[in-house]
Amino acid sequence: MSTITGPTYEVLALRYGIFDGRLQYQNFIIPDDHAAPDPLDFYVFAIRGNGRTIVMDTGFNAASAKRRGREILRTPAQALLDAGIDPATVKDVVLTHMHWDHAGGMEYFPQATFHIQAAEMSYCTGPCMCEPFLRRPFDVDDVKSAIDALYADRMKVYDGTVEIAPGVTLHLIGGHSGGIQSIRVPTQRGWVVLAGDATHLWRNIRKRNPFPVVVNVQRMLQGFDILNRLSDGPDHVIPGHDPLILKRFPPLDGNPEIVRLDLPPAA
Ligand SMILES: [Zn+2]
Ligand SMILES: [Zn+2]
Repeated sequence: MSTITGPTYEVLALRYGIFDGRLQYQNFIIPDDHAAPDPLDFYVFAIRGNGRTIVMDTGFNAASAKRRGREILRTPAQALLDAGIDPATVKDVVLTHMHWDHAGGMEYFPQATFHIQAAEMSYCTGPCMCEPFLRRPFDVDDVKSAIDALYADRMKVYDGTVEIAPGVTLHLIGGHSGGIQSIRVPTQRGWVVLAGDATHLWRNIRKRNPFPVVVNVQRMLQGFDILNRLSDGPDHVIPGHDPLILKRFPPLDGNPEIVRLDLPPAA
């Protein structure tokens, strides 16, 4: 892995929602015990330092939480405020993908430019959305918000790897959605990769057992290799929904709902 020569950043995971009713077969294509409880947490992530603040994903709003039976603990906007980040002034928001629990809060960021992959925009507005099964993880209002942002010059659309701040790069992964991307960040403990839903849990990538919400299983598995290659080790790949994140990383200013991913985890 390349050494870090430029600036490093603080990286935060901020929990805003939970889904305790999840079962193991909903998280793994091949479960060990398909009816075992296997809860998911919902996070937004933030990268800050060197005069910049970048937010990864906008979370979901109260209306879609209710519709889909998830529990919202605080709005993603409040979670960011709790970390001293005012979403109203954030300039850069990376949308890993357009699923309802990642793109459901674009209105919290009135000043932001949204960074997305072209493959994701075409996927969520293209012919695959004629299939109810494939469009199930999307909310049409979020897709409309993305199109509004595009037409308002508030969206940057990429075709693969791009650097959006010194050392901070976006990487097209695919698999889970048509054009999901992950973020690589230089930190004081090395290269950290915020995978988003490219791996929901550490167990998905470590056991190479894919999450069942998937468009292309082969690309999801190849994505695991990309995440491993970009990071400085297994604990440097941060999954999108793993409840262990809060248990393993040190809290920010004693707040148990916000943890520092740029600091080493507990074993
Ligand atoms: Zn997703
Ligand atoms: Zn998700």
